Amino acid sequence: MREPEELDPAGSPDPLQDVGDMDPEAFRRYGYAVIDRITAYLDDPGVWPVLPDIQPGELRARLPADAPEDGEPMDRLLADFDRLILPATTHWNHPGFFAYFSISGSAPGILAEALTAALNVNAMLWRTGPAATELEETTLDWLRRLMGLPADFVGTINDTASLSTLHALAAAREADPDLAIRQLGLAGRSDLPRLRVYCSADAHSSVDKAVLTLGLGLDSVRQIHTGAYGGMDAAALDNAIRQDRSDGIRPMAVVATVGTTSTTAVDPVPAIADICGRENVWLHVDAAYGGVAALLPELRHVLDGCARADSLVVNPHKWLFVPVDCSVLYTRRPDVLKRAFSLVPEYLTTTDPSDTRNLMDYGVALGRRFRALKLWFVLRYFGASGIRSRLRQQIGMARDFAMWIDDDASFERMAPTQFSVVVFRFRPVGEMDEQRLDELNMQLLQQLNSSGEVFLSHTRVSGKYALRLAIGNIRTTPAHVGRVWQLARSAAERMS
Ligand SMILES: *Cc1c(COP(=O)(O)O)cnc(C)c1O
Repeated sequence: MREPEELDPAGSPDPLQDVGDMDPEAFRRYGYAVIDRITAYLDDPGVWPVLPDIQPGELRARLPADAPEDGEPMDRLLADFDRLILPATTHWNHPGFFAYFSISGSAPGILAEALTAALNVNAMLWRTGPAATELEETTLDWLRRLMGLPADFVGTINDTASLSTLHALAAAREADPDLAIRQLGLAGRSDLPRLRVYCSADAHSSVDKAVLTLGLGLDSVRQIHTGAYGGMDAAALDNAIRQDRSDGIRPMAVVATVGTTSTTAVDPVPAIADICGRENVWLHVDAAYGGVAALLPELRHVLDGCARADSLVVNPHKWLFVPVDCSVLYTRRPDVLKRAFSLVPEYLTTTDPSDTRNLMDYGVALGRRFRALKLWFVLRYFGASGIRSRLRQQIGMARDFAMWIDDDASFERMAPTQFSVVVFRFRPVGEMDEQRLDELNMQLLQQLNSSGEVFLSHTRVSGKYALRLAIGNIRTTPAHVGRVWQLARSAAERMS
């Protein structure tokens, strides 16, 4: 229902004109109004509780069942954004957001997103997005050099690491042309051996999802146990591959992780690359979070051995201050990736030179957003040194927190802290009962998160319940990290 006295003519579709877009003056006015809102929000997202006080279904119940028949004024849309959407949002921008992997869509990236939306380019072909295609090549070359990866790594941008890993494993499957899976598929064939994908027990679930999407079946994933510090046991991988071969199973790919989601452990990639090289098995490295650390000379070693990988995924939307979504898949075998996905129907053929790169050839999606623009803005605005100093600050805060844990007899660290994540638990002096410790730590997490000031998540390390403090928000300062410690200490005292 419209209340005519509230109607702002500049903000609602002109009733006399039922065609065309918002008029430029109204666009300018509401454009400024949106920027003002973003500015106020980002200036202090901490005024919101990091987790909204809301139950599933509550927002839907407040929204109309049908789309409006008549256009509504922009003022009302913006008012509803303030009234309905903001309070129902988990505030990833909150400096007390320490759950999962804390991320930042920084200001230059947000502005680039607006420009991307305005251009509305669909870069399926070079022809349909020359700037998007070539800026993607250039920015991914920049990032590759910053990470110290060799020149034969060719990158493409996907939405998420899950898609990047799916694409990598599809390429791995295509790498053995004798299997003829592209043409004949997997179903109904008695001539195919079972294909195997190896990863550590702590690998991300996106590996399993890729395998089930590719029709290999979850039984095709063989989890290799981890050794000290959570990295894959390379000798166990070697044995598993030998054993599979002697059982007539074809090893298809190994997924090594640099920075696991649970504890940020790093698999021994050099040893894994030796095995993959000898066995002629595709090596994919999941560095979705940890890969960015290689921008720091002192952490460059986390990518040791990765130059020999066939593919590697890193997410600029995770720890490089680029707004969601932006995941980069590098591969040394772009020809194989292309063979896995290239299909050119008549209506998409072009007269451009045959070596012109068309992004649609490198994955499932035909249409491609112009995601390189935000990566370009972020890399240029902060510069490599600006990004390095922000990463160093976050790693420093994580080390401080780890030190406080180590110095307190009633807390313990559950994994090494080499990036910006601290895995720890409360352990009252003398308490040995593991079940009791699990319960205490669940309570601790619940108390921290109900404060509204901070949001942490949990994991299990060798079966033991542990809390994760993940630092990655560009607004998080030592004071915010200190506050978590204060809250944890006082909750622990209450429980002791
Ligand atoms: C976050 C993460 C993923 C999944 O990332 P999406 O982009 O959300 O698909 C995969 N692997 C690792 C190691 C991660 O940390």
